[in-house]
Amino acid sequence: MTNTTTKYIFVTGGVSSSLGKGIIAASLAKLLQAQGYRATIQKLDPYINIDPGTLNPYEHGECYVTDDGAETDLDLGHYERFLNVPTSQANNVTTGRIYQSVIDKERRGEFLGKTVQVIPHITDEIKHRVQILGKSGDFDIVITEIGGTVGDIESLPYIEAVRQLKWEMGNENALVIHLTLIPYLSAAGELKTKPTQHSVKTLMESGVQADILVCRTEHELSDGIRTKLARFCNVKREAVIQSIDASTIYDVPNLMLEEGLDKVVLQQLNLESHTPDLTLWNTFVTKHKNPKSEVVIGLIGKYVELQDSYKSILESFIHAGAANEVKVKVESIHSEYLTPDTVASKIAHLDAVLVAPGFGERGVEGKIEAIRYVREHQIPFFGICLGMQMAIIEFSRNVLGLKKANSFEMDESTPDPVIAIMEAQKKVTKKGGTMRLGAWKCDLLENSQVAAIYNNTSIMERHRHRYEFNNDYKVQIENAGMKATGFNPETGLVEIIEISSHPWFVGVQYHPEYKSTVANPHPLFLAFIKAALKYKTNK
Ligand code: GLN
Repeated sequence: MTNTTTKYIFVTGGVSSSLGKGIIAASLAKLLQAQGYRATIQKLDPYINIDPGTLNPYEHGECYVTDDGAETDLDLGHYERFLNVPTSQANNVTTGRIYQSVIDKERRGEFLGKTVQVIPHITDEIKHRVQILGKSGDFDIVITEIGGTVGDIESLPYIEAVRQLKWEMGNENALVIHLTLIPYLSAAGELKTKPTQHSVKTLMESGVQADILVCRTEHELSDGIRTKLARFCNVKREAVIQSIDASTIYDVPNLMLEEGLDKVVLQQLNLESHTPDLTLWNTFVTKHKNPKSEVVIGLIGKYVELQDSYKSILESFIHAGAANEVKVKVESIHSEYLTPDTVASKIAHLDAVLVAPGFGERGVEGKIEAIRYVREHQIPFFGICLGMQMAIIEFSRNVLGLKKANSFEMDESTPDPVIAIMEAQKKVTKKGGTMRLGAWKCDLLENSQVAAIYNNTSIMERHRHRYEFNNDYKVQIENAGMKATGFNPETGLVEIIEISSHPWFVGVQYHPEYKSTVANPHPLFLAFIKAALKYKTNK
């Protein structure tokens, strides 16, 4: 559709964190996209880090990487998985980045002697960042998710920027969706609206009236509760949207459709509403919910106790599982507890093993032990980034007999650094945003297993690393049966290894999980799940 004015939707959160603003934003965007609107989503994070790249997964879950090399919030992963449209640096902005650009401008003298203040300078920068995507001309609707919860000190400048934008753009061009929680008090047997009334009031204290309430709840909202919420919160009755707990996040677009969220949004923005075409989406959901068999995959990492640390990998399993019509049951295995004595008991029963990306020494010896086991026992293996590097170390130690082989990252004095620091990384001293990041081209060897899997010999994949396969060991490693089958065409950097005498043993230096979407499950994950199924059938 053509439309000269980009429309803006702001999503704020109240009462509690972790209500799933990202999923609501992605679901709404999906419904709008399925009606022909070009929608994108942006996340504004109120923390002071420049980006989440330096954050430990314990703090903020997985760091998601875009094609253009931005290290971003994991919600961008949901946006891409739902919409199948790549995001970029402009889709994630933090307070740190906002302040950095304002301070840089101040140092360049661009404020002409003025006192630099939160209002208007910080809020102007926020307003500018919100509108970058809209002004690109690529989108009809921009959904901006404001991180944190209304009432937080650090989100105040964002709420102020929303107030100003809404005022300047008018009600037909900008609206606010407030995501809130309706708690159920089991002792009273009642759903309670008061926390929502308070959080809407807090928003109003900053001059922002919510237009739509999306209410997270464990129980159906009665008519009476909806009417009460509408009355006390100044929203239309049909703008009180229930968001009931779902068994999968992939149900949420349909749940929002049933509640008419898209209709209320389009009506206020004075845009036509149509019946969304969710055919492909629903085929996926049906397959996901009706698997014909099950495989059990071991996910080996050092943050396995946290669901969010390997978010994109878990979602990639869901996409590939649905396409193969199998349920992928993931068994998370903490690499720190894997030793020669425990490895068989933790791994022997699995149908396949994925060794996760990671940084630093903790847990790597356990990963190596697991890889040895699956290599020797012909269990399908998929190594991602650090997982691939560990596969090369395991092979060097146990097949080539280089007992002290290691990565430079773990042991700078190793006599056999089969994983070395990349040339370009040697002079890097700063931490944030300095790894090899983003999408790079990779050529695949003809006749390799991966070329058959991709059905292509040239691919683009996203990266996030400092260390690489040391080409000094390539001949030795290849002669022993582990082949390098994917290369960066410019530098010769090895991006993929495989062992063809093994049923499925593939390691990749890049992160395929960032590119798997509902519409396009990643070919490597598809093939890996297929291999797990085959292994299980032949057991
Ligand atoms: N720590 C390794 C490196 O920097 C692997 C990184 C990763 O797994 N993303 O090369």
